[in-house]
Amino acid sequence: MIDEIQHDCGIIAVLGHPEAANLVYLGLYALQHRGQESCGIVSRRDQRMRVAKGMGLVADVFDQAKLDQLVGDSALGHVRYSTTGSSRLENAQPILVDCAKGSVAVAHNGNLVNSLEVRAELESRGSIFQSTSDSETIVHLIAKSRMASFEDAVVDALSKVRGSYSLIAMNQDMLVAARDPRGFRPLVLGTLGDGYVIASETCAFDLIGAKYSREVEPGELIVIGGGELRNYFPFPPRRKARCVFELIYFARPDSLVFSKPTHIVRKQFGAKLADEAGVSGDIVIPVPDSGICAAIGFSERSGIFREKGFTRNHYVGRTFIEPKQSIRYFGVKLKLNPIRDAVAGKRVIVIDDSIVRGTTSKKIIDMLREAGAKTIHYAVTSPPYKHPCMYGIDTPTEEELIANQHSVEEIRKFIGADTLSYLSMKGLLSVLGEDAKGYCTACFSGKYPVVHKSSKVSQFDLFRFPSINIR
Ligand code: SF4
Repeated sequence: MIDEIQHDCGIIAVLGHPEAANLVYLGLYALQHRGQESCGIVSRRDQRMRVAKGMGLVADVFDQAKLDQLVGDSALGHVRYSTTGSSRLENAQPILVDCAKGSVAVAHNGNLVNSLEVRAELESRGSIFQSTSDSETIVHLIAKSRMASFEDAVVDALSKVRGSYSLIAMNQDMLVAARDPRGFRPLVLGTLGDGYVIASETCAFDLIGAKYSREVEPGELIVIGGGELRNYFPFPPRRKARCVFELIYFARPDSLVFSKPTHIVRKQFGAKLADEAGVSGDIVIPVPDSGICAAIGFSERSGIFREKGFTRNHYVGRTFIEPKQSIRYFGVKLKLNPIRDAVAGKRVIVIDDSIVRGTTSKKIIDMLREAGAKTIHYAVTSPPYKHPCMYGIDTPTEEELIANQHSVEEIRKFIGADTLSYLSMKGLLSVLGEDAKGYCTACFSGKYPVVHKSSKVSQFDLFRFPSINIR
């Protein structure tokens, strides 16, 4: 899969460090794969918050002048890809508001399945939304809460939302980090000198020299203020539903996600697929970058030589101008090109993490045939992707998901492979081991851990004029 399913968001906070905003800035670079549409940082000094946000990549949005303004020993950052709400600056995060609770900054990763109802209820009581993002719902709930303390107001707000959230909220005095009781999205805690760091993935810690402490547990609330850290679980425990697709595709391979090393888990998926597929070939080649770790595992288990079958162009932005039909498969070719000398005359086993619409896989196979591959076995390191995600991942509709509409044999014919195999659900769960029941696998099984009467993939996309004091 090349960019057919998009990550949701990445968040990071640094507390108790004089270079907090600079470190968050670096951390956002490490989390850039989780969102490329917009980014932002809020810093705090002497109870005053400052914000810088913009559309585009971290490298495009921030310059030295902006970073110099983000003074203070605490900072909160966010990279965004829109799963609800459109791609506009008003939807960029962190959201910073001035309200009855003082200045409040919020960065959210996830998707609230009941945000339409909560938003309508808030609007009926006078709240005026300025963005189309479901994350703003949480901010309004905090602002409207009858709880006197900021910490209790955050808990009160979270008690009213359903779905997925890994969230960091900051006011003048403290920071509150929370993960929903099912733990869909990752969140990790670390230390940096005498301070603390919280982020979506540990790859952000590596870049800034922070030390990993542990995963923030599903349902856990962490409060950091006055140099001290407290934690508790404010809500009744639920069956865990960590997103298995973080391990298959979303997270960076150098990250620990859900306390598991992503690279090793992907290698195990590849090895398990080699056992199940039982195919022979001359070379194993990954669809870069997400298929690389699994291809290593497949190659080690099968004894089939691993080759670099494609070169990926890492410098293609998310938007480019499609030329006329004269250049076939321009979009895929711009990102990926087969290495003719590696694949010509070979029986090729292609390792991919998933097939979404099938169109990209078809183009990849066509390109390999044009490059002279003798036979092509397509091997996918997850079960057929049949159902859209409701929990913060941007996926096509059921009608667009090829595995929802067609059998494996029909998909094989459509993509033009000689053979096609998927990792079985049993194989996937066996790699996850004892805690396999604590994962969400809804996009394969259709068994959604949380549903709501208005649940759908994109909840709303309304245009609202800014009218309250969100900075
Ligand atoms: S539906 Fe799929 S992508 Fe969404 S949270 Fe569950 S496992 Fe992850």
